[in-house]
Amino acid sequence: MKQAPLADKVLEGDVRATARLIRWIDDADPAALPHLAKLYRHTGRAHVIGFTGSPGVGKSTLVDKVVSQFRKENRTVGVLAIDPTSPFTGGAILGDRIRMQRHFLDEGVFIRSMATRGQFGGLTRSTADAVVVLDAMGKDVIIIETVGVGQDEVDIAHSAHTTALVTVPGMGDDIQAIKAGLMEIGDVFVVNKCDREGSGKTVRELRFMLHMSSDRHRETGWIPPIVETSASQDEGVENLHRALNEHRDFLMEHGKDEWKRRVFHRTQNQLLEILKERALERVLQKIGGPAALGKIIEDIVDRRSDPYGSADDLLRIVMGGDSI
Ligand code: GDP
Repeated sequence: MKQAPLADKVLEGDVRATARLIRWIDDADPAALPHLAKLYRHTGRAHVIGFTGSPGVGKSTLVDKVVSQFRKENRTVGVLAIDPTSPFTGGAILGDRIRMQRHFLDEGVFIRSMATRGQFGGLTRSTADAVVVLDAMGKDVIIIETVGVGQDEVDIAHSAHTTALVTVPGMGDDIQAIKAGLMEIGDVFVVNKCDREGSGKTVRELRFMLHMSSDRHRETGWIPPIVETSASQDEGVENLHRALNEHRDFLMEHGKDEWKRRVFHRTQNQLLEILKERALERVLQKIGGPAALGKIIEDIVDRRSDPYGSADDLLRIVMGGDSI
């Protein structure tokens, strides 16, 4: 395989090789696949942490400060900022420059934004692939920062070992979103901008909701802490850092089954995403590309056929080698 040395370079911690591979992943360039296949066996060491919450709650400021805390313990850190909102603006690159400033000279920190322009598989798949690269590169901690509270974010959160859910005082909408199901995914709750009024009230609301959904916590034995921070004033960040480490220690020591369950879940997602992507690729190849698929969809729209039978037909074509 001609490009094989790229994977070797990543394993040696080479920043340029890592950046290139992550760019291929972001562009859904199939050139990344043989390298990912090679790197995968060298992964599984890193503590993967997801940070999620609405835009503007202070995630990047917070992540930046948490990175410094991990560096104080001499642990290396990779940060993936997932920005699906501005795929074509180049905003991701500008964001990287701003983010990189503080840790610019620190070889122990690698920060990249991804806009995930990929056609299939999408955000969850490309994030999981990028985590493989950073893990293989030798980063001890990998932070995935996502924007918003949609299904993608929930999926990504499921793929992390530890998920920090960030909100701020007085964000009624956020609290609603948390109520509507996000509560499930939070291992650590953060009320950032605690320098603002109403922080205590938000903490109380969260505590109440956690209490209401305590079945799950009884099951796992982990009661998610609520940490107040002021990222811009560097307050409470040590507490957050400690809570993240405690969750990791909890999973490793007391909750081996929980750790295994999460790894299993993540691996399952990853395999199924890859399978879906490959299956779809093969279907498109066999039927002659997206235009042919368009024709099939039009038939369904006009009720000349139905989506259930058509999916079966398409599968039969791939498995049996028939043609339409
Ligand atoms: P993100 O969109 O969630 O990544 O949020 P940013 O980190 O970009 O922060 C959004 C704005 O909130 C910026 O102007 C930050 O300076 C500000 N900010 C972040 N943390 C705090 C905080 O703890 N207190 C206050 N008052 N402002 C903060």
